[in-house]
Amino acid sequence: MHTTYKRSWAEPYKIKMVELLKMTTRPHRLKAIREAGFNTFLLRSEDVYIDLLTDSGTSAMSDRQWAGLLLGDEAYAGSRNFYRLEKTIQDCYGYRYVIPTHQGRGAENILSKILIKPGDIIPGNMYFTTTRLHQELAGGAFVDIIIDEAHDPLNEHPFKGNVDLNKLDQVIKTHGAAKIPYVAIATNVNMAGGQPISMANLRELRALTQKHGIRIIHDMTRVAENAWFIHEREPGYANKSIRSIVHEICSYTDGATMSAKKDALVNIGGFLAVNDWEVFEEARNLVVVYEGLHTYGGLAGRDMEAMAIGIEESLDNNHIRARVGQVEYLGHMMENYGIPIVKPIGGHGIFVDAKRFLPHLSQDEYPAQTLAAEIYLDSGVRTMERGVVSAGRKPNGENYYPKLELVRFTLPRRVYTQAHMDVIAESAAAVFARRNRIKGLKMVYEPKYLRFFQARFERL
Ligand SMILES: *Cc1c(COP(=O)(O)O)cnc(C)c1O
Repeated sequence: MHTTYKRSWAEPYKIKMVELLKMTTRPHRLKAIREAGFNTFLLRSEDVYIDLLTDSGTSAMSDRQWAGLLLGDEAYAGSRNFYRLEKTIQDCYGYRYVIPTHQGRGAENILSKILIKPGDIIPGNMYFTTTRLHQELAGGAFVDIIIDEAHDPLNEHPFKGNVDLNKLDQVIKTHGAAKIPYVAIATNVNMAGGQPISMANLRELRALTQKHGIRIIHDMTRVAENAWFIHEREPGYANKSIRSIVHEICSYTDGATMSAKKDALVNIGGFLAVNDWEVFEEARNLVVVYEGLHTYGGLAGRDMEAMAIGIEESLDNNHIRARVGQVEYLGHMMENYGIPIVKPIGGHGIFVDAKRFLPHLSQDEYPAQTLAAEIYLDSGVRTMERGVVSAGRKPNGENYYPKLELVRFTLPRRVYTQAHMDVIAESAAAVFARRNRIKGLKMVYEPKYLRFFQARFERL
């Protein structure tokens, strides 16, 4: 008799050093979340068991990256590590000029100041918190041109990060190309649930913007994860390497901002990369004001070395397959428990649909904020809100009411094991079982900028 066995993937690394986790009791967690104003951002990490707040800066570095730290050339100017980083970015991504920054928003600040004039319009495939804020602080206004499917957590479109070209065409007709300094394109759109843009869509977008002389700026924070989905889902890419797919994505854009704290597997760092000499010249000048000299941009030499190594590692097919595979494993477990999640499962985390999880709460009772606090109370697993609190207020003071009201279970790269995924899904299931008894929250303190980081709440 012939039997075929299932072939699983496994983590493409083994563990050489461990960090012990702290287990807490429910009374301890209740005290902690109260003191944190029911905001998981205000919890102390020591009170957390499994930390899924973010995949930003929380990755485990490889032994090669740690070894790279010892090769730090801590010169104020012209560090050897900068030139290695610059060459890695040019080789892997294809952009011509590179400016390191302390993290992604440092690059967003500089780019927005250079390209945006008051009154400008910046169309993009869904907003990101820091990106939009820098656009607005520079006098611009963000316009969402992502396909409608992206706003529907039930829609299983394989490329929910795609741009609706008709929407973009309309924006160009209404405002005129002269008012649009660039189109902002994120790969593996964070706020849509880690959803990819297709190569075909990028190509069409390139053709349309070229016709009007409009640049494309690429938020490439999760470009490797996006490349994995193209590899899996888009005809013609199954036999291409992640490295070559990433290179092709970048080739349709004119510049990029990068938070290296995500895909690039470092705990701090970022960069701005552009192809246009004039923009580079201005950026090289401005970076001195906000970050540091253009050959370190707020980073130590050792940080740039670790980033260069991390970029190379992030483009390995086995790495990215296991990275996204772990997210899918957690998502399938949650689905088996009947928990409503955003579909298709994205690249960096599971996004639980708090509107369907807690249908008895209105958006003014902060369902996602409430659910994140309840998950923490149940197990010490820390997640975060991506809903009405994160969306903040419009420049005129009105609340944004986003269609998506989500709790993000974000997976750090190379940090947790499959057994941790089981524990996380079981906790979500336990809260789901008693969802009818959960009451909402009211906001009692609201900061002016990016309120989700520091807002405080009380139970209703
Ligand atoms: C994290 C992130 C940023 C901002 O980067 P920081 O390093 O946190 O400053 C920008 N865009 C996206 C899509 C991100 O996920």
